[in-house]
This record gives sequence, C-alpha cells and structure tokens, in this order.
Amino acid sequence: MDLFEFRDGVLHAEDVPLPAIAAAVGTPVYVYSANTFRRHARVFKAALAGLGRVHLAFAIKANPNVAVLRVLADEGYGADVVSGGEMARALAAGIPAADIVFSGVGKTRAELNRGLDEGIGQFNLELEEEGEVLAQLAHARGQRARAVIRVNPDVDAGTHAKISTGKRDNKFGVPIDEAAGMFARLARLPGLDLSGVAIHIGSQLSDLSRLEAAYARIGELVATLRAQGHAITRVDLGGGLGVPYRADDVLPSPAEYGEMVARATRGWDVELMFEPGRVIAGNAGVLLTEVIWVKPGVHHPYVIVDAAMNDLARPALYDAFHDFVAVEPSGERTVANIAGPVCESGDTFAMGREIDRVESGDLAVFRTAGAYGATMASTYNSRALVPEVLVDGDRFAVVADRIQPETILAAERVPEWLTK
Ligand code: PLP
Repeated sequence: MDLFEFRDGVLHAEDVPLPAIAAAVGTPVYVYSANTFRRHARVFKAALAGLGRVHLAFAIKANPNVAVLRVLADEGYGADVVSGGEMARALAAGIPAADIVFSGVGKTRAELNRGLDEGIGQFNLELEEEGEVLAQLAHARGQRARAVIRVNPDVDAGTHAKISTGKRDNKFGVPIDEAAGMFARLARLPGLDLSGVAIHIGSQLSDLSRLEAAYARIGELVATLRAQGHAITRVDLGGGLGVPYRADDVLPSPAEYGEMVARATRGWDVELMFEPGRVIAGNAGVLLTEVIWVKPGVHHPYVIVDAAMNDLARPALYDAFHDFVAVEPSGERTVANIAGPVCESGDTFAMGREIDRVESGDLAVFRTAGAYGATMASTYNSRALVPEVLVDGDRFAVVADRIQPETILAAERVPEWLTK
C-alpha cells in the first residue's frame, strides 16, 4: 500500500502533484513518500511484534539516502550496512552505532577498523580468516567485537539468479556443514564476542516455504552449537521479502512472514534480528520522467523517456519489471516499447507493453522504484546523477542534488605530459 495516488486525474505523491515536482526540480527525478516509508516500517514491525526480543536493521543498500534513513531511524530502525560508505551514511542519519549490523563478503581491514572505532553493534562474518583478523584488530585495542557467523544454508531461494545468495555455490556465507567447527575455533579468540549466526538467502522472495526451510536449518545449527556448549543469544534472519511490481503480483504479506517466523523459531530463545530492505522501500518511491519523443518502431513505437538505465538499472541488470504510468493519463491505451536515451539496446525498460498513450512532453513514472533504484544510479554516457526528492504530506524537499556532468568533469585531470 503506497501513497502515490490519482487526484482529479493527476498522480500525486501524498498531497503533492507530481507535475509540481517536475517543474521545480526537473526530470528524471526519484520521488519518495515519507509516509509510505513510515507505514511500511510500522507494518513490518507490527508483524514481528509477538516474537519477543527483535532488532530491526534496514538494509540500507536498498535506499541509502540520508533523509530516508532519518525517517526510518525515527521509526526505531537500525541499519544493515555493507561498506564503510554505508556505515558513514547510517551514522550521519543519527542511527546509533550499536544498532548497526556490518554485513558484506568483502569488508576490508580498514572497514573493520572503522567499525571497531565506531563501536558497531554486530559484525556478520563471512569467512574464518575475516573472524581471525577482526579478533586481532579488536584484541589489539582491548576490545571484543560482537560478531555472528553468516551461514550459507544451501537453499534455493527461487528468485532471480543474480539476487539469490543462499545456494552453496554463491559467494556468501560459510557452508552450513562447516559452520559449527568454525564457530568453535573463532569462539576461543579473545577479541571476539561470538553470539550467534546469520542468514540471508536472497531478495524479492515470493515463496515463504524456501525461507522456512532455510530457517529450519539454522534452528538445527543453533541446537548443535548449544550442544557444544556455546551460548547462542542472537540469530539474524536477514531480509528478502518480496514486493508486488505488477498489479496482479501476489506476494506473502509481512503478517504471513511474521507467522512463519514465529513457527520456524519457536523455542529458539534468542534475540531475532531482521534486515528488511525492499519490503520497506520498494513501493515508497517512483522515478518521475518526461517523454522526449515517441519514435516509430517496426512493431510498436518507442517511447523515449529522459530516464535511462543509468538512473534505474534493474531492468537492464535483471530484466526487472517496473510499471509505467502516465502522470495525467488521457484514458487512451496503446502498445509501445519504452526506452531511455543511453546508447545501449539494453537501455530498454519494456517491449510491447500496454501502457497509457503518451506524447512528447508528457510526464510518467516508473513505479516501485524506491528500492535498488537511485542507489544503483551511475553517470554512464556522461549523464547527470539523478536527484531525489522526499515528500512528506504537502511538503517536499530535494534530498539529493542532480550532480551535473560538469561537476564530474571537474574532478578529472589531464596529466601535464599530455597537455603539451
Ligand atoms: N541483508 C543482506 C545481507 C543482503 O544482502 C540484502 C540484500 O540482498 C538484504 C539484507 C536486503 O534484502 P531485501 O532488500 O530483499 O530485503
């Protein structure tokens, strides 16, 4: 449920008509609804309310805008981060270091040190050597780093291969059959406070039974670890819950997810941690764009919009579907291809799609662009870096500037020997 709705035939973000944002900021531009973020954050939290001790860490890779993080911090969310840059953003948004989980398969020594400097609440270890290095770094400064081991349960999440993370041959986590041995070795190191395990099997998950199977394996591992004498106080269940991208998509609700978690974790007696990203952010944002041309095509016309694959990479990256809706639809429908200006055939958002009839100069949105949208943007083809706007009731503000190609050019240098 989001707050992008038509009023008098014009698409609004909460109380703000989208043409007003286009006039003030230009296009393309991401537009977020603060109250949709709040609503999603509350619905997800409510779904887990019966589970006892719960820690919610928004996976900020989904949407790291600092204003968005501020909204979620106010809802009591911590952050799941995967780089020093994300850590800095979470801290800048006012998220306490103790509420930050540091995930990621390639944390550098510098990033581990930074995490220790800041007093990060939990490091999710991806391999034994990382645990040893973290233990040394922490011990050297007289600390014990709070950590858990991320386990790869070898479960097929049933999602797109490029966002699947829980199969044995994925790069993530420690093979589940090696986790107990590794836990025992790392638990002996004085620089580590090893308190549990973590899991994350993929994103845009639509089949709860796959997650439940993975959680069952984690439950068995927790029992094994306890039988070996380890105190297990935390289990991080990751993120992954999918969102509807198409009007007729049927996805498990947060409430159904909460019921499954309650069933799967009964008797675990741990603090449960969650790292939701897409389910909080996906439908809280749209990418607002203007039609540049409608170009004749062989089978269907090409609607060329001013947003491109550099602004919204998901369709080019993994054939993702984003609904395309005119901001002031005439009521007429047509079948068209939708593409951006970038010089790649991959810069095509849809082929042969039934859409609102649009003309040059019309505004339209790609829906469900609040997660893995602006955060993946680039400046490919020397385009500007796409800006972001946050709407809150009848107010809106630019929360990330459009970075112009000239600004990026100014950071480049021609070496002196080439200037002669
Ligand atoms: N946690 C980890 C470790 C992840 O890699 C991801 C994303 O893939 C997430 C949480 C968030 O996933 P999602 O946005 O699907 O909830």
